[in-house]
Amino acid sequence: MDYTIANTPGQTTTSALLKQLGADASELKAVWYAFPQACFVPAARFDDELTVTAPSLRTYGQEDCMCDALREVVGELRAADECTCTFGHEGGYQLHTILSDACTKKGQPSDLALIRDLAPAMSAHAMCDEGKAMANATLQALDLFANEIEPHFAKRQCPTSGCKAFQTYHILVSKCTGCGKCLEACEDGAIMGKARFVHVVDQRKCSQCNRCLEACPEGAVVTAGAKKPKTPPKPIPCKRK
Ligand code: SF4
Ligand code: SF4
Repeated sequence: MDYTIANTPGQTTTSALLKQLGADASELKAVWYAFPQACFVPAARFDDELTVTAPSLRTYGQEDCMCDALREVVGELRAADECTCTFGHEGGYQLHTILSDACTKKGQPSDLALIRDLAPAMSAHAMCDEGKAMANATLQALDLFANEIEPHFAKRQCPTSGCKAFQTYHILVSKCTGCGKCLEACEDGAIMGKARFVHVVDQRKCSQCNRCLEACPEGAVVTAGAKKPKTPPKPIPCKRK
């Protein structure tokens, strides 16, 4: 969620600022201070003193993916960057492309090595402040959120449920009545089932269109990130009446 910082408070803590903005810090994983400050602060450092120069901040909850968060801020910094220098403009394009690939199941281990090489070079040689900010934010995020970012490259996995491309759809045995409305709604033939049987999603065919979730009157269709609910591999008779 984005918050405008109306009166830049100068020296403060992230905790104090969040309280002033009406945000519940206890639910948060991290904060991004917008350009020109351009830095992430993880929850563990919310009580550290810092000088705030950002016009706004963005908060991230536990479900948000910090690889996707980084992709987003690099994209925004690129869009605001009018400089055409090689390291800022071209480097920013490369960074954003690599991060976008990582968030859509196309990451590769060699891409991670590439951004680890590229970001320090951008930081040192970009002629624009935005180019340096993209690089520094990337290096900072790789350091702070390695456990979330690296699996996108190393295993093509998103450890949170933040990246939509990694989300899977599931039908809960405890809630499904076998009414068939999800099966009718699915245009990809990705749902198996028949009347009075718990329906099952075939992840290989699912295009993540969300239609089944909207069609189910029982709230039996759920999405999941890295942690999946237990569901049967094939339709089974419904337990619910
Ligand atoms: S999300 Fe769309 S494609 Fe996937 S199972 Fe549901 S209706 Fe079918
Ligand atoms: S998941 Fe929902 S819509 Fe689909 S059969 Fe079960 S109860 Fe009906």
